[in-house]
Amino acid sequence: MSNMEQDHWTRVKGRLRSSVGEDVFSSWFARMDLEAVQDDSVHLSVPTRFLKSWIQAHYAERVLDAWKAEMPKVSRVDLTVRSAMRNVAPAKEVVPQAEPRRNEPASNRPAAELRSTATAPVSASHEALGGSPLDPRLTFASFVLGRANTLAHAAARQVAEGRRGDPVMFNPLYIHAGVGLGKTHLLQAITWAGNSSPDRKVLYLTAEKFMYGFVAALKTQTALAFKEALRGIDVLVIDDLQFLQGKTTQAEFCHTLNALIDAGRQVVIAADRPPSDLESLDERVRSRLAGGLVVEMGTLGEELRLGILKSRVAAARVHHASFDVPEAVLEYLARTITHNGRDLEGAINRLLAHSKLNATAVTLEMAEREVRDLIRPMEPKRIKIEDIQRVVARQYNVSRSDLLSSRRTANVVRPRQVAMYLAKTLTLRSLPEIGRRFGGRDHTTVLHAVRKIEALVGKDTTLQDEVESLKRQLAE
Ligand code: ADP
Ligand code: MG
Repeated sequence: MSNMEQDHWTRVKGRLRSSVGEDVFSSWFARMDLEAVQDDSVHLSVPTRFLKSWIQAHYAERVLDAWKAEMPKVSRVDLTVRSAMRNVAPAKEVVPQAEPRRNEPASNRPAAELRSTATAPVSASHEALGGSPLDPRLTFASFVLGRANTLAHAAARQVAEGRRGDPVMFNPLYIHAGVGLGKTHLLQAITWAGNSSPDRKVLYLTAEKFMYGFVAALKTQTALAFKEALRGIDVLVIDDLQFLQGKTTQAEFCHTLNALIDAGRQVVIAADRPPSDLESLDERVRSRLAGGLVVEMGTLGEELRLGILKSRVAAARVHHASFDVPEAVLEYLARTITHNGRDLEGAINRLLAHSKLNATAVTLEMAEREVRDLIRPMEPKRIKIEDIQRVVARQYNVSRSDLLSSRRTANVVRPRQVAMYLAKTLTLRSLPEIGRRFGGRDHTTVLHAVRKIEALVGKDTTLQDEVESLKRQLAE
């Protein structure tokens, strides 16, 4: 490669750095190399599959734009995973599988695969460390992939496959999703997989266990021992962080988090909301949590639900070989039980219990009867403050940063007030929280906006229409 090309590359990196900011740049682009420039295309490489898919999903256009700005003739950028040959110590590759395995339903996989043979010793030593109990069924082998969870799964695998001393790519890994969408499953899968290698210790704790462990340790004057134990682990996994409460616990959590991250240990966290919405946590902790990789898992699509059902049936068949659920029943369940993975699991358990107790085969009619109460009407969509800001900004043709800014011109003030009003009426967020999410405003400002719009909506029909239209867009 010519010096000139290297110079271009250096400047392209400079452009990227200033367009995405230093933090993002160092997380995702620091290990990107220029391989070649050929005619109108540029070949870049990164060390892992995960980086590749992440950059393609989130930054492909920016990378191309940066090149175009530097070399106008460039019209495409190819990104490849550097072959292990070039690296002294090849980075472990994550192989994210595409959409649900259409050709290979979970039920066709050998049942034995669903249970790791190494579960017993792993589980015993994990509990000896003070970890929360693990469910042997929650492994990577039984985790079904779909659009909603591909990224979270890829990141989880990356963490699970790391070795002691490997550089930590993102810290903490923070996974959030609603109830029953697979957070605990993924976290326990990391724990099982990580602990199956002898030189690694992965500790899985629920937030409650963390609190209880710490508080109990304080009482018995062994807080030091507890901290020591934490220091001896490579990966700390904390589930359901939204339950972490109390000032002392939080302070201790904050110390632990900082100590582990600074020591290059991996921290993985799951919660039912993004870090910015963990209202009871200190701002510093929140920003530390947001500083790693934050991944949301979406709702389970129908195909993913079908995959999960099949995986559950396969697991049940390990012990109940005669248990069989016709395809039509599985499809019916996947179509009608839309809420979450727990209800899917519940449905299979009921069919199993029913068919065992009555020694009858599972039929569609029986399934309809057994799971009737699991079929709930669609819950209204949970609306997020970001969605409100986005939709309002679009409707009034201002930018989202205008809404968050301190500008006071009329064309920004009104949309901002409408957005705050919608945030108050359509979400469960408190006034201070809304103020914070609108560029750090005081709760009285939010209250003022809410009252103002409430009063105007009664009189001003144009505004009323606008608000109605916004609500419709948000409900979509
Ligand atoms: P959360 O912790 O997010 O509330 P869980 O991890 O407990 O949810 O998942 C609820 C149920 O759904 C569990 O039985 C889990 O195994 C199942 N489940 C959820 N997502 C998946 C998935 N992608 N593959 C297989 N099972 C899943
Ligand atoms: Mg859970």
